[in-house]
Amino acid sequence: MPCPGFASCNAPLIDGHARRVTYLRVSVTDRCDLRCVYCMSEQMSFLPKRDLLSLEELDRLCSAFIGRGVRKLRLTGGEPLVRRDVRELFRMLSCHLASGALDELTLTTNGTLLSRHAADLAAAGVKRVNLSLDTLDPARYRAITRWGNLGKVMEGIAAVQEAGIRVKINAVALKGVNEHEIPDLVTWAHAHDMDITFIEVMPLGDVGADRDDQFLSLAKVRRDLAQRFTLTPSAHDSGGPARYLDVAETGGKIGFITPLSHNFCESCNRVRVTCTGHLYTCLGHEEGADLRAALRGSEADDRLHAAIDHALANKPKGHDFVIDRRGAATLPRHMSVTGG
Ligand code: SAM
Ligand code: SF4
Repeated sequence: MPCPGFASCNAPLIDGHARRVTYLRVSVTDRCDLRCVYCMSEQMSFLPKRDLLSLEELDRLCSAFIGRGVRKLRLTGGEPLVRRDVRELFRMLSCHLASGALDELTLTTNGTLLSRHAADLAAAGVKRVNLSLDTLDPARYRAITRWGNLGKVMEGIAAVQEAGIRVKINAVALKGVNEHEIPDLVTWAHAHDMDITFIEVMPLGDVGADRDDQFLSLAKVRRDLAQRFTLTPSAHDSGGPARYLDVAETGGKIGFITPLSHNFCESCNRVRVTCTGHLYTCLGHEEGADLRAALRGSEADDRLHAAIDHALANKPKGHDFVIDRRGAATLPRHMSVTGG
């Protein structure tokens, strides 16, 4: 049975470069219980509640995209689990899994609140989560996140694994911060049956730090890892920007996301919606559409679909991030606004 209010339009989402969009990431809040040094400044001001999409608007928006061929939906933030009604949203969206319209419903989380949500996520049909963790050292974790408690994250990992949900670790490679710990992160993740992906710092938003000081090239990370492990290119393709290597010693995989190179733009199948309903068709560009106005402007979805189509026709071919010599952020938006 179709979900309530589902599929007022089912034309596939094809952009101006003939790429089909099948993957939607939606930020459900700009708030977070942490302040990671590469993501936020310590003093952040967050949006008033009225600016955020309501639960019903989020459900309507996601359902509209699913009706047009989105097969994978990721909720993110900010920290998605700090939003009070996020449980209900997962429950509402799970009907698309049950109907077969959606292949995967998932989230990206820092893991601090995961233990209390594990059972509900499993019940909603979540099979995998991406969990962001850059260090296994409690003091370093506190320093990177400014006040996080590593123990809570470890509890969260155990709870979701217990509930039958697979975990993938995402770690930002940070020069001189977790650089020397990267092989240990790999060993730990693989020993706990989790793949791990490393990410380069992207110049998104002013975080009160010099991006040049934070940036660690994954080419260097890979060279360092090759000193410790036997690495071979993996046939695995997640359909996303990561490139994978198999690790002979552990039997696990390591992913590398190098957003500053253009290697994944040609096959880009994704778009993002912020917690205020702004559609960004590329992480590195300002082009997009105000879907909140379209949602609030009419009870029917015609305006919404027209806004989506207009934005897709103008989806950029690729991004052009640069960490310039002064280390200034090239885009004013924080990652927590667009969602990772
Ligand atoms: N709070 C959740 C979390 O941390 O997983 C979800 C949102 S967070 C913005 C999503 C991902 O973006 C995290 O893996 C985080 O490490 C990454 N991230 C944040 N700012 C970044 C930046 N400037 N460059 C690269 N990755 C960044
Ligand atoms: Fe919060 Fe995630 Fe950003 Fe860290 S990376 S401050 S956990 S939104």
